Amino acid sequence: MSEQKAQYNPWQAALETFDAASELLDLDENIRERIRYPERELTFNFPVKMRDGRIKMFTGYRVQHNTARGPAKGGIRYHPDVTLDEVRALASWMTWKCAVVGIPFGGGKGGVVCNPKEMEPSELEGLTRRFATELAPFIGPERDIPAPDVYTNPQVMAWIMDTYSMMRGYTVTGIVTGKPTSIGGSLGRFEATGRGCVYTIAEAAKHLNINLNGSRAVIQGYGNAGSVAATLLHEDHGMKIIAVSDSRGAIYNANGLSPRAVLEHKQKTGTVAGYPEADAISNEELLALECEVLVPAALENVITEKNAASIKARIVAEAANGPTTPGADPILDDNGVFVIPDILANAGGVTVSYFEWVQDNYSFFWKEHDINQNLLDVMVRSFNDVLETSKKYNVNMRRGAYALAVDRVAEAIRVRGIYP
Ligand code: NAD
Repeated sequence: MSEQKAQYNPWQAALETFDAASELLDLDENIRERIRYPERELTFNFPVKMRDGRIKMFTGYRVQHNTARGPAKGGIRYHPDVTLDEVRALASWMTWKCAVVGIPFGGGKGGVVCNPKEMEPSELEGLTRRFATELAPFIGPERDIPAPDVYTNPQVMAWIMDTYSMMRGYTVTGIVTGKPTSIGGSLGRFEATGRGCVYTIAEAAKHLNINLNGSRAVIQGYGNAGSVAATLLHEDHGMKIIAVSDSRGAIYNANGLSPRAVLEHKQKTGTVAGYPEADAISNEELLALECEVLVPAALENVITEKNAASIKARIVAEAANGPTTPGADPILDDNGVFVIPDILANAGGVTVSYFEWVQDNYSFFWKEHDINQNLLDVMVRSFNDVLETSKKYNVNMRRGAYALAVDRVAEAIRVRGIYP
C-alpha cells in the first residue's frame, strides 16, 4: 500500500463529513447514531485455482451501509490496496449519492484485494465466480445489487450474473448493473458516469457564468469515467482537454489533446503516457495546471491539505469517489474553487444503473436517447437541489449535498421506526 494511502483513512473522512452534516441539520442524536454504523460488513477469505495449479487465497469485502430507502447498491473494486475501511467509506458514499439524486436505493460496496493487471482472464473469472458464490446469500435484485468499479467491468458483471443465475436455477438479470447489453445491460450505462459528470459541469458553468466553449479542462485518470468525461467536454462543449493522466503517467498539450486519439493510444499501449502529440508531466503538475475545469477521475485522496492551495481550476468536478480530503475543502473554498462533490458529480453511474435495474425488472428496454434525457433531468434537478440547499445553509456544495442526502435518509429511518 502506498505511504500516502496508509496515513489516510477514508472511513474516518466519511464519518467526519457525515458528522458535519448532522450538526448542520441538528439531527436527532438517536438517528445520527444509527447512521454512523454500517448495517452489515462481510469479509470473505476464499481460494482460487491459479493457472500454474497453485491455490491462492484472496480476501474480499461487501459492506451494506444503509438500506432505509431501498436495496443496497454499489460497485465492486479489484485493487491491491482495498481495505475494509475503504469499502465502508465507499458504501456510505453510495447511501448519500442515491439519496442526493433521489433514487430508491441504499448504499453498498465491495472489493477484493488483488492485482487484476497481473492476472490472466481465466484467473479473474475464477476469482469473480468464487467471490460471487460467497456473496450469493447476501445479495439479490431486491437486496443488494453490485456494479462495476475500479478495475472491474461489464465482463466481470456478466460472470457474477451467470454464477448467481446458475445457483438460483434461472436467469436473474437484475442481480447486477453495468452488464453487457446482450444480457440485460442498459444502453448508455458505460458512458453514464462521465456523461452525468459533464451535465453537472455544464450546470456549474451556467451558475458561474463560465463559457465552456474554448475553455480548458484537465482530467486525472483515463478509465471509464475520465475518458468519457474528456470526450464529451470536448465534443459537446468545445472544451480543450489540455492534460490527462493514468496510473503510469500524465501528458500535456496547451493546444488541446484529441480525447479519442488518446484513448486509442491507451487501448494499444495500456497507458496514456508516450502519446506522441504531448509532453510528459507529473501527476502533481497536472493537478496544478491553470484551467477552468479539473476532473479527478482516478482514486480517492488526491487533493489534500498539502496540494489544495496549488489548484488553479475554477471548477473541480469529482468524477472519482473521495478525491478530496476534508482538510483540503476549506482551502479550495478560500481560493474560490467551486467543487461539485463526488456524491453529485459521479451519480450518473448509479442513476443509469437504476434505469438498468428498472428495465430488467420490467423486461422492457428503453432507447438510448430516452436514457440520456432521463439522466439529464435527474442530474440537472439534483444539481439545483444541492445548490439551493447550500444557499439555504450558507455552505459549500459538498456540505449542501450531504445535508440534502442525510436529511432524506434520516427521514426514511424516522418514518420506518425500529423493528421489532
Ligand atoms: P477505471 O478502472 O475505468 O479507471 C481508473 C483510471 O484511473 C485508470 O485510467 C487508471 O490508470 C487511473 N489511475 C489509477 N491510479 C492513478 C493514479 N495514481 N494517478 C492517475 N491515474 C490513476 O475506473 P472508473 O470506473 O473510471 O473509476 C474511476 C473513479 O470513478 C473511481 O473513484 C470510481 O469509484 C469512480 N466512479 C466510477 C463510476 C463508474 O460507473 N465507473 C461511478 C461512480 C464513481
